[in-house]
Amino acid sequence: MIKNVSVIGAGTMGNGIAHVFAQTGHRVVLIDVSAAQLEKALRTIEKNLDRQLAKEAITAQEKAATLQNITTETRLEEGVAEAQLVVEAATEQETLKLEIFRMTDAAAPADCILATNTSSISITKIASVTSRPGQVIGMHFMNPVPVMKLVEVINGYATHTAVSDTIIALSKKLGKMPALANDYPGFVANRILMPMINEAIYSLYEGVARVEAIDTIMKLGMAHPMGPLQLADFIGLDVCLSILNVLHNGFGNPKYAPCPLLVNMVNSGKLGVKSGEGFYTYTPGTKELVVSEKFR
Ligand code: NAD
Repeated sequence: MIKNVSVIGAGTMGNGIAHVFAQTGHRVVLIDVSAAQLEKALRTIEKNLDRQLAKEAITAQEKAATLQNITTETRLEEGVAEAQLVVEAATEQETLKLEIFRMTDAAAPADCILATNTSSISITKIASVTSRPGQVIGMHFMNPVPVMKLVEVINGYATHTAVSDTIIALSKKLGKMPALANDYPGFVANRILMPMINEAIYSLYEGVARVEAIDTIMKLGMAHPMGPLQLADFIGLDVCLSILNVLHNGFGNPKYAPCPLLVNMVNSGKLGVKSGEGFYTYTPGTKELVVSEKFR
């Protein structure tokens, strides 16, 4: 049974992943190259636990036990030395992930499963730099991790069935719903989501409809919680572009070509919520959705 989990990367996803493992009784070592980022992650986890406490979803004892289950580490080798499962959630950059997996493979126990939370990088390629490709798997959580139910479990070309079964059972133990996919560009979630977002951007670019109309039609017409342009801003337009490039390069099919408007927006630093402007403008402290001046 898996008890010791190491999470590599303490950013947006890493802190949420550490949170759900710790809350379900796992001992978690949260690893990041940045000590400041680890501090910030612990503060975020505590704030999110307080929110659960306020809603009476957890007790004060459960909050304390969750925090006690988490330790932090800046040295990767020490951080994975006793892991039974490693979940890598570092920056989405292929060369970086390959280096992290080489190092983790050398330092983690031989029977440890190595999972990655990548949105789009090939699991099979990541597995190929390790000595244990059968024990490498995709464990793709959704943002925000403590709230979102899905774990997309992705089998690499060499992933053993037993490893896949373990990760499916573990995801259920975390209170999540696992769904299995094979390792092809974008897996399932982003292969379907990103063309929809790209088509929404094309609809704007070609003047079919304005920002609010596109989002209203998809929101109310399809019962989506937010429209595709707002969702693109939330995900980050740079992230959307990079996933579309993975689909375009991976399949060689022009239907995945990123819309030139998306490329222009990323090149001019309009990345959505994180940069303060995308299809909408974002002012800290306000929740009102205001269409960017560019599209009014
Ligand atoms: P992020 O930028 O918020 O965090 C990445 C963290 O990785 C940073 O804290 C950084 O310091 C750390 N890091 C970088 N190099 C490292 C190294 N060598 N060792 C340890 N830590 C290192 O990124 P994020 O949004 O949390 O994304 C992490 C992963 O999760 C990516 O693979 C991304 O594709 C995937 N993902 C993101 C989302 C999302 O909505 N943000 C959703 C699903 C999956």
